[in-house]
Amino acid sequence: MSTGQDQLKELLQQNRQWVKRVSPDLLASLEKGQSPKCLWIGCSDSRVSPTTITNQPLGSLFEHRNIANVISSTDGNAMAVVEFSISLLGVPDIVVCGHTECTGVATAMIHEEGQEDPSKDHLHQWLVPTRKVYQENAKALEALDPRQRVLELGRLNVAASVSAIAATPAAKAAWANGQPLRIHGWRFNMAQGLLEDLNMTHDGSC
Ligand SMILES: [Zn+2]
Repeated sequence: MSTGQDQLKELLQQNRQWVKRVSPDLLASLEKGQSPKCLWIGCSDSRVSPTTITNQPLGSLFEHRNIANVISSTDGNAMAVVEFSISLLGVPDIVVCGHTECTGVATAMIHEEGQEDPSKDHLHQWLVPTRKVYQENAKALEALDPRQRVLELGRLNVAASVSAIAATPAAKAAWANGQPLRIHGWRFNMAQGLLEDLNMTHDGSC
């Protein structure tokens, strides 16, 4: 049986193997700077690694990941990433990508007020925006079976993050200056391995 230390040792060993396989030209290009195709905002889930599921090399995606791909104007970390991507890197596209079987979204749904667990305090605080989306759509969501309910809340949660990015001063300034910027909502279907466009793109025209 492998121990935790063995597993971490494997990461270091695999890095050495990767260096042997990777193109020296790619490493040389990375050293010169980055010009990523997009800002990718996804869930921290270990099963949805963006460069793996999109088959992209290093340098392709500027990434921001958190529990349940939540974007909120009160999150200084996320806001700095959005500003950096738009204002410094000039990315033309931002993708907010949710996924099926998202434990973060499911957790936001089951939390009940008055049952706070101090060991999960920050997690529950983090999921407040997703819980708010649930409460705003409770009637429609509760008419669905439990599996569909999590899926639909996940979709609405992506839409809320897309809207939050569209409302940032950085996005508004880009559109006012004629800088191309599209903000997309996608979902990764874990069982199929496929990405789906949820057709909620903002391009500043509305
Ligand atoms: Zn997730």
